[in-house]
Amino acid sequence: MSYLPIYIPPYKDELMYSWIGRLARANSLSLAEFSHAYCGMPKYQSVCADMRRGFFSLSRSLPFTDELDDLYLEHTTIGLEMIAKPVPVQTQYFNMSFQPYSHFNIDQADSILRVKVCPECIKEDRIEVGQPYIHCSHQLGGVDVCYKHHVPLMTYHGKMDGEMDFNLDDYDEEEILIFKRDAIAYADCVHELQGAGLHTDSDSVRETILKKLEEDGFDTTDPVRLFSSCFDDWTYNSLTIMHDYEGFFRVKPNVVQSFNLQTIVPVLMYLWPDPNGFADAASDHEPYLKQYTCSTCGRTYYETPRSQRDGWGCPYCAEHISDEERFEHLVDVIGNGEYEVITPFKSMGKKVRMKHIPCGHEFEVTPTGFLFRDRRCPCFIHENVERQK
Ligand SMILES: [Zn+2]
Ligand SMILES: [Zn+2]
Ligand SMILES: [Zn+2]
Repeated sequence: MSYLPIYIPPYKDELMYSWIGRLARANSLSLAEFSHAYCGMPKYQSVCADMRRGFFSLSRSLPFTDELDDLYLEHTTIGLEMIAKPVPVQTQYFNMSFQPYSHFNIDQADSILRVKVCPECIKEDRIEVGQPYIHCSHQLGGVDVCYKHHVPLMTYHGKMDGEMDFNLDDYDEEEILIFKRDAIAYADCVHELQGAGLHTDSDSVRETILKKLEEDGFDTTDPVRLFSSCFDDWTYNSLTIMHDYEGFFRVKPNVVQSFNLQTIVPVLMYLWPDPNGFADAASDHEPYLKQYTCSTCGRTYYETPRSQRDGWGCPYCAEHISDEERFEHLVDVIGNGEYEVITPFKSMGKKVRMKHIPCGHEFEVTPTGFLFRDRRCPCFIHENVERQK
């Protein structure tokens, strides 16, 4: 992998995808050519707007190796979107960007389907930095208006890779289905939360909410009912109509469930009118990413603490291990040596047969299920359900 001939730093709040567009231009390449040369994408395929796949390759061409975690979290929407995901799912997301692309690292649904821009920010950027760029905070889940100018965002509908031309004829103003006042309050709250640099997960967020309710003297036995009555006469009520906060509070045992910002943020807004109050309450949490040094090759790399515990380890050394060998190693670490892989690993979605050594039971599970959704031998599930009764 070669270093970038010309390096330019990202702007404040610039989406990584936008920065890559500018890096490509600075190096006289099209976005697709740059994506292939520096982001490990197949020929003629550009990186996606959420930039999940491609960062690992890009990071090897940058003129520095430190603080890649900050670079990634400040210039993608992932940092904030992750507060709505449980830890095993977070691990899968971060592996996507901090491990080489492989059969273990399959593409997931994009969190940014179409890029959004604010027409007022475009004008301001032209004056302040000489050119417009795509802002990270405009792409966050459920955001329809600019937090700074309170005007509706415009969504890109033009041809592929043309976002960075900033031709407003290619951008449409979307119909906002909630009250504009509520959309503004939501965008403001999300912007504050983004600035707070939160590190948390959906289970911890739920606990923090329940703790706050208890402190405020509420009966928390049925949070769904509690919120549906509270939300009835809440100022920003229209925010709660479309989103499934009920699912968020009805936790199913043995199911690792993901949510999105739109589900959680209205609840946070209701309980903490100042978003920093929530940020303080949710503060004691491990960082999403930590830097580690490989004891085999001596290189430094980033991964989540859970990823480290689960045995993912050094991404550079991983490139030299076969998929089957790697899967067996991961099963051994994650399953505490209690599981034997009977049929070989083919892909993340193709079921493998496994044996739970302590009980002797054989069962089938997808590698995604075992590695990222905590699926285990049925005997373990029965035990858990008994314990929760
Ligand atoms: Zn704006
Ligand atoms: Zn290594
Ligand atoms: Zn078992």
